[in-house]
Amino acid sequence: MTMPADLAVLAVVVVRDGQLPLGADETVTEAGGAALVVGSGTRAAAGELDSGRRVWLLERSSVAPGALAAALAPVLSGVGMVLLPASPDGRDLAPRLAVTMGRALLAGAVRCTPHEVELTRLDDRLALRVAVDGPAVVTLRPGRPGRAGPAGRTEVTELPAAGPGTPAAGRGTEWDAENVEVLQPEPSTVDLAEARRIVGGGAGLVPAGTDGEAVMRLLADVAGALGASAGATRVVTDAGWMGYDRQIGTTGVAVSPELYVAFGISGAAQHVGGLGEPAHVVSVNTDPSCPMTLMADLGIVADAPAVLAVLADRLGVTGAAADQPEEASHAG
Ligand SMILES: Cc1cc2nc3c(=O)[nH]c(=O)nc-3n(C[C@H](O)[C@H](O)[C@H](O)COP(=O)(O)OP(=O)(O)OC[C@H]3O[C@@H](n4cnc5c(N)ncnc54)[C@H](O)[C@@H]3O)c2cc1C
Repeated sequence: MTMPADLAVLAVVVVRDGQLPLGADETVTEAGGAALVVGSGTRAAAGELDSGRRVWLLERSSVAPGALAAALAPVLSGVGMVLLPASPDGRDLAPRLAVTMGRALLAGAVRCTPHEVELTRLDDRLALRVAVDGPAVVTLRPGRPGRAGPAGRTEVTELPAAGPGTPAAGRGTEWDAENVEVLQPEPSTVDLAEARRIVGGGAGLVPAGTDGEAVMRLLADVAGALGASAGATRVVTDAGWMGYDRQIGTTGVAVSPELYVAFGISGAAQHVGGLGEPAHVVSVNTDPSCPMTLMADLGIVADAPAVLAVLADRLGVTGAAADQPEEASHAG
């Protein structure tokens, strides 16, 4: 069984127990709605794909990447560009698939068409456009909204179960990865783009004369206690109170959380432009009519440092002292 020859781009989405990985929908959208969903619980996972229009299901109990690459290589041989979400399984499978199929690998794309892929490097400071003139395997970073996919009904085809597959011999892939345990990512260190819950800090969280870095450490501790990651606005990162890898926005990280709690953030277009479409937004701000509060499900009109302090207290977060005045004045 091979994929139809008319497929210029096909998304390959590896699923476990019916769970889609982060970035699955964006990848399928970027592939124009064509997807091969492979792994365990493929039918349930495909049902969660909003962007799928032509979907093939390949049920397998094991997604060990070397064996999976060997099993998929003949199935995908006619597809020009194989696109995978840069999820843990996608990142494991893509290079093995590229080696097994003898194709180029373009890792960490933010946009792609059948003939051109845009990659970013050096924490997004460098954008590279790579012309694609042959078959390729590409991974797409999550948190980048793809082009709108074609509307219409979804056509689902179940493929006959493939053999177990043996990792390609002679190319350094004779061994295969073994799944020992699946651990949930640590919210405090997870790549912000992959965080499901984010607590963000803005200029309004740092009153003049306070130590901005200590305030942001407290914010990160409170976020950790809530099982969330800490993010910030550019005002905060420019002031050096938090690293640039935590900046959310058009010139920062594009995120896609389910919950976003914004402390003292105005909601400038450049900030919310990188926010994706969170299901729930909470804004703590003294200004009830600022854009962040207007887009929030819950607007708390109050002093953000005071609310954070109460929250820290209730959660038993001692954190670093965030109330020591210092020489430097704040930016907001
Ligand atoms: C080319 C360009 C690219 C940019 N890229 C980004 C980007 O990627 N990410 C980004 O975030 N920004 C970016 N910016 C900056 C952006 O335009 C805004 O300036 C920035 O997002 C504002 O950050 P802020 O909300 O923390 O500060 P402010 O806009 O100053 O807002 C502070 C908020 O705190 C509230 N406040 C004040 N005191 C309190 C208090 N005690 N309690 C509660 N609330 C209080 C105020 O009402 C206000 O709403 C970019 C700008 C440019 C020009």
